[in-house]
Amino acid sequence: MSGPLLEISRSAFRHNVTAVRRRLAPSELLLVMKDDAYGLGIDWAVAEASAVGVHWFGGYDIPTALRIRTLTDRRVYAWATSPRTEIAQAIAADVDLGVGSAAYLDDVIAEAEAAGARVRVHLKIDTGLHRNGFRPEQWHDAVCTARAAERRGSISISGVWSHLSEASDADDDASQRVFLDAVEQLVAAGGEPEVLHLTASAAAWWRPELRGSLSRVGAFCYGIRSADGPPLDSLRLIARLSAPVEEVAADAVRVGIGAFHGLPSILRGAEVATPGGSRRIIDIGGDALTVEPWEGASAGQRVVLFGPGTQGEPDATALAERVDTVGEEIITRLTPAVRRLVVD
Ligand SMILES: *Cc1c(COP(=O)(O)O)cnc(C)c1O
Repeated sequence: MSGPLLEISRSAFRHNVTAVRRRLAPSELLLVMKDDAYGLGIDWAVAEASAVGVHWFGGYDIPTALRIRTLTDRRVYAWATSPRTEIAQAIAADVDLGVGSAAYLDDVIAEAEAAGARVRVHLKIDTGLHRNGFRPEQWHDAVCTARAAERRGSISISGVWSHLSEASDADDDASQRVFLDAVEQLVAAGGEPEVLHLTASAAAWWRPELRGSLSRVGAFCYGIRSADGPPLDSLRLIARLSAPVEEVAADAVRVGIGAFHGLPSILRGAEVATPGGSRRIIDIGGDALTVEPWEGASAGQRVVLFGPGTQGEPDATALAERVDTVGEEIITRLTPAVRRLVVD
């Protein structure tokens, strides 16, 4: 095998998803698959997740949700505020929609009525992140509008949700109070949401008291731990990035992967796994990098840049921490010049 290669393990993914589901129970897992499943590929992952019992999938935007829908009959959720043509496609494909503004709620109701459909809607309360979502002072009106549409049969208010900042436990606790208050208001107005969802990977894993009946988890299912977060003993990264030795000199070994493949050039100094043990990256160029030499280095050997750790390599998050980003960023940045291979 020549050239850089990202090997993605189906069995490691099944293992992680199963471990996440077990830890979260009775909260159900909604598997987040934005950015083409964090750069690892939606197409194979939906089947694997279905096989181990995942019932909810999340695509962020409607085009991603529609792609997931071609692969499964289970619940598919899209929460990006989207244009009317996409809303109509989502309705036709029976996708659940996350709604966090009055204008978008109006659009969804109008498209539902045009289609004569009953659309499952999850209302988003803004619990402090100020990204999207009804502000607490807008919630009453949102509930009135949504309940009226629900009585007319054009929507079902299937869920209430929000997104935590995960900046501190105190912030997240305060967000949960705002969230539960919004749920209470909806219930008082006659709403009967099927699911409540507030947490993503880190809060769902570490703060059981914040979990609703559904947890939206992406990163941890792919084995991507939080930057500067504690290790996740039972989960491992499902991908391994390797590249071939191209040339050996006395003071440096040239390896065929570089910035053109999506490696941040400021990874200089990071340790990678070579057949002779851990060695530092000396420099990163466009299509190759140089690594400290090892005994017996020869062209064709492979160097592992990140992976599950079984060969002493760092995980993607360890590299991310060096450049002050998150693990998923290291993976999603890899360009199509890196070959992907899904293995068992
Ligand atoms: C990306 C995302 C998630 C998943 O976050 P992870 O930390 O990867 O688990 C959950 N909810 C929303 C709204 C998201 O955008």
